[in-house]
Amino acid sequence: MSIGIALLTFALQPAWPAAPTGDPATRTLAHDIFKQLIEINTTDSVGSTTPAAQAMAQRLLDAGFPAADVVVLGPNERKGNMVARYRGKRGSKRRPVLIIGHLDVVEARRDDWSTDPFEFVERDGFYYGRGTQDMKVSDAIVVTDFIRMRKEGFVPDRDIILALTADEEGGKSNGVDWLLKNHRDLIDAEFVLNPDSGGVVTDHGNPLTMEFEATEKLYADYQLSATNPGGHSSLPKPDNAIYHIVDALAVLQRTPFPFEINTVTREYFTQMATIETGRAAADLRAILAPTPDPAAILRLSADARYNATMRTTCVPTLMSAGHAPNALPQRAEANVNCRIFPGHSQEDIRMQLAALFDDPQITVKYRSDAGEVMDHGSERKAMAPPPLREDVMHSLSTVSAALWPGIKVIPMMMTGASDSVYTMSAGIPSYGICGVAIDRDDVRMHGRDERVPVESYYKGVEFYYEFLKQLTTQH
Ligand SMILES: [Zn+2]
Repeated sequence: MSIGIALLTFALQPAWPAAPTGDPATRTLAHDIFKQLIEINTTDSVGSTTPAAQAMAQRLLDAGFPAADVVVLGPNERKGNMVARYRGKRGSKRRPVLIIGHLDVVEARRDDWSTDPFEFVERDGFYYGRGTQDMKVSDAIVVTDFIRMRKEGFVPDRDIILALTADEEGGKSNGVDWLLKNHRDLIDAEFVLNPDSGGVVTDHGNPLTMEFEATEKLYADYQLSATNPGGHSSLPKPDNAIYHIVDALAVLQRTPFPFEINTVTREYFTQMATIETGRAAADLRAILAPTPDPAAILRLSADARYNATMRTTCVPTLMSAGHAPNALPQRAEANVNCRIFPGHSQEDIRMQLAALFDDPQITVKYRSDAGEVMDHGSERKAMAPPPLREDVMHSLSTVSAALWPGIKVIPMMMTGASDSVYTMSAGIPSYGICGVAIDRDDVRMHGRDERVPVESYYKGVEFYYEFLKQLTTQH
């Protein structure tokens, strides 16, 4: 994306107002909860979500939530989930709102980081630690706000349920899926808020947009394999398993999937056309035309975010081949990871890949999240975007305007995937709404030295507090 020259003048100024956001008691509480969560290792390899779920449960119990409304449960002792119910007005006919947040984090190696990823470190105006962006930051925010609202005696017009869960990033015990299958009554709701996506996009701390997720792509892995009788490498033959795979991947590299647009991405591009300037703005307008301009599509495709928003993407992520340096390979394999534009199934894309490679020596199989390789992918398609609820939209835009004056609220299609896939599949409309502001060139989810600006965190606490209160006091 292009950044106007004018923005550069902000670079040396402090990004946030000098006055800290929030009252001191809330800030202390928010700080302690965040620190506690970051310092509990919840990775799939050596960690566990159970102590984190129990710690958050204890916080809520200490704040006066009744024991019957706070539970920790899961399929095994390492994969605990916490479900807490904030009771609404007695006798309210309105069905609950469910907030989901995953407690697990991506692996992080001490050697790769400048700080210990499982130590909560404040440095140069940032909080560092695994999960400071994805997504213990929002787990801590909602727990803080639950406690704060309860202390104030706030009574919402419907129940607010919070589910903090396991295995969004990996592992075999996805908490949202497990709760829906085993304890649907505990988390059943009219709609879902998932702070795992969306949020305020800033540039050197200056707010550009409040994005919220209105739909997301479908995830799929495919295993490409080629086999060959092999032989002695001193007598090479043109037919070689490695060449087959490499040729197929070269075709994939040269052949992007076709341009597509839906109601959500159309609105996203329309809004971005008013934020971008010059060529990028003109190109965005050109792809919104009834006949999108291919040259504009090509130029915008150079931006990874725009590219991923306008089509299905597939990219090789793993390869393995051969069995000895002096033998012709008997087998070559590659994993191709696809992010599927809503409307196509995993099986559609598997068949499109096979047709694209057009090589009888290559098989294209679907590989499940659990690593199982199958001849066919699921026929399930990414969910169509749910209707934008008036109450959610209204609360989102009013609170955003109060906290970040002048900010544009824009819907987006998440190019990754979140636990909303489970709640959406269960028929519960789900929206990715987050109040944390992160610079667009400082997205460190899953990466090294993950961090969040200190004031971004406390403003995020204010955002969800105001947003939840407004959302549940309209009736
Ligand atoms: Zn996440």
